[in-house]
Amino acid sequence: MFLTIRTTTSPVTDLGYLLHKHPEKVQEFGLNFGKARVFYPEVSEEACAAALFVTVDPIALVRSRTGPAGEAGSLSQYVNDRPYVASSFLSVAIAEVYGSALGGRCKDRPDAVDRELELEAFVSVVTCRHGEELLRRLFEPLGYAVEVQRLPLDPHFPDWGESRYFSLKLKGTLPLQLLLKHLYVLIPILDNNKHYWVGDDEVEKLLSKGEGWLSSHPEKELITHRYLRYQRSLIDSALERLIDDTIEPEEEDELRDEVEIETQLSLNEQRLGTVLSVLKASGASRVLDLGCGEGRLIKLLIGEKQFEEIVGMDVSHRMLEIAMRNLRFERLPEWQKKRLKLIQGSLIYRDERLAGFDAAAIVEVIEHLDPPRLHAFERAVFEFSKPKTVIITTPNSEYNVKWPTLPGGKFRHSDHRFEWSRAQFQTWAQGVAERFGYQVRFLSVGSEDTEVGSPTQMGVFES
Ligand code: SAH
Repeated sequence: MFLTIRTTTSPVTDLGYLLHKHPEKVQEFGLNFGKARVFYPEVSEEACAAALFVTVDPIALVRSRTGPAGEAGSLSQYVNDRPYVASSFLSVAIAEVYGSALGGRCKDRPDAVDRELELEAFVSVVTCRHGEELLRRLFEPLGYAVEVQRLPLDPHFPDWGESRYFSLKLKGTLPLQLLLKHLYVLIPILDNNKHYWVGDDEVEKLLSKGEGWLSSHPEKELITHRYLRYQRSLIDSALERLIDDTIEPEEEDELRDEVEIETQLSLNEQRLGTVLSVLKASGASRVLDLGCGEGRLIKLLIGEKQFEEIVGMDVSHRMLEIAMRNLRFERLPEWQKKRLKLIQGSLIYRDERLAGFDAAAIVEVIEHLDPPRLHAFERAVFEFSKPKTVIITTPNSEYNVKWPTLPGGKFRHSDHRFEWSRAQFQTWAQGVAERFGYQVRFLSVGSEDTEVGSPTQMGVFES
């Protein structure tokens, strides 16, 4: 089975960085049911296409007993469509071979992760008993132009009629990670026959890969039922969480898990309240919100006359769009629009647009940066942008034991690259302050525990 992903968005070779696969090589990966190979059938100035070619060995499947259940001893164990048709095997191959792209990680091109690219995905053969209509119902609400071609049962015997197999082409403008998430979840739905046992962790997989799109998909029930192989308790648990999420559409984004975990204390509000009061007390009038996300702090800032100029920056276009929507930017009066600017940019690059401000808030952002990028971040903020006051907040990892819903050893959000203890954060912050000529003091936000401290830690740097 084949999955080809093609982009025409320049620089087209970013595709190779995002997939973490070199365009000039054929690379091979062993999977426990067969092999995957990645190669590039097209690399030109205009377009770049990467093909994932997965072979399934049905005999090995029988031996390792990972084949479809209920077929023991039957011929269909040996002779079936599994080697040729995209199925849950393809999802496993995507997760193993394109794992970093699926997880939204790209060391060499971090900015490309969230970038909307012109993408085309071609899956050579999918099976769908319900025909073209279901294929469209699944992919069109996600914004794809869908091209489907039904394949004949056997081209040499047209009388035999048509098969239930299709080739599928999807075209859309979206981040690569999102395309991979869609395919990861929806391909096995078409096949409706997972090759492995579906247990509790499938709910987590569905919710994490469905993040940002599943809760608003008109077919979310069908998707959930099929993905979880009709297991009632799993379906209920998944749908319950998805519905929660539909009630508050503002939260339908990467921050969802984090928000869900934290709402019990409405920690988020306390955090933003503290940031706001520190900003006010600093006397700042021109302020930056770096990594502004969906604009929650900005909403508070525009309510305060003291702030004459407010600039929100985020690396993610999608976040900025959500922020524009949440702030009802288009409907703001002209004078408000003049005060407020939302810009796309990355905190790990020197950026002249960030120079000359009184204060910067960087709320729950540093833990999203890859540790090797921290140094670049420090220079971008403290050496080049150089606001008089810098407020940084980040989770206090010691507090994680207190979250009833957070499994031990896990971060509060799947995109966190690290979470620091108080000592780790303070050591880092003091080093930064010394290197760049700032004084730093620390505040805690949220209910304080005598042993593990408070859930959020804050450093206030002043030059
Ligand atoms: N400050 C917001 C959002 C925190 S989530 C709040 O408290 O609600 C972290 C945000 O940082 C996300 O919106 C993410 O897109 C952004 N981000 C991650 N890496 C970034 C980078 N290198 N430059 C700018 N923003 C970044």
